[in-house]
Amino acid sequence: MTIKDNLLKIKSQLPEHVTLVAVSKTKPNDAILEAFYAGHKIFGENKAQELIAKQPELPGDIKWHYIGHLQSNKAKYLAPFVDLVHSLDRKKIIKELNKEAKKNNRIIKGLLQFHIAEESSKFGLSLDEAVEILKDDGLKNYPNINIAGVMGMATFTDDEDQIRKEFKQLKSVFDTLKTDFFADKESFKEISMGMSNDYQIAIEEGSTMVRIGSSIFGPRNTSK
Ligand SMILES: *Cc1c(COP(=O)(O)O)cnc(C)c1O
Repeated sequence: MTIKDNLLKIKSQLPEHVTLVAVSKTKPNDAILEAFYAGHKIFGENKAQELIAKQPELPGDIKWHYIGHLQSNKAKYLAPFVDLVHSLDRKKIIKELNKEAKKNNRIIKGLLQFHIAEESSKFGLSLDEAVEILKDDGLKNYPNINIAGVMGMATFTDDEDQIRKEFKQLKSVFDTLKTDFFADKESFKEISMGMSNDYQIAIEEGSTMVRIGSSIFGPRNTSK
């Protein structure tokens, strides 16, 4: 199977309301171009350094999604071009990204990342922390960030019930925030959940955006 075959097969299986982010981390530009010329425009990277190096060499109409933990000193490099940052996991990064978006005269879309997995290694907010940021019209402080939904990563396990439980938890966080803070904001609509090994479960549990790497591009050599 080629990258193109993998891509088209996955696309044909996704419901229409689900957006595919092709996760190209560790993969060379020619692999990305193969997917691009097969008609795909949305790519995800999880290392700022890697994305900064790749972006200028690839077509300008690619929509780049940043899906990794973002250090605040890297926000300025992504702000000129990034389309959606999935990993707003603390107030400090929202503040920093807002500042850099403003400098670039842009409004950057972002997702609040929640910690839903059992593994403590994974990043993300708790519901309480998110409420702390959002309460009292807190987003007014960040006019150049458009919060478009939530993101989460399930535990890396074969236990389907565990994964399903965690995705249900993220869906419930989304519903709570929607009701309490975004009821009149149509743009708050994305639930980014599901990777190669669990995206089918994620879609059953309400995902609107799946982030798929190895099932499109093949296995990666590094652990990340
Ligand atoms: C690597 C990565 C993915 C894609 O993982 P695959 O298992 O290769 O599909 C999705 N989301 C995030 C945050 C990642 O870092």
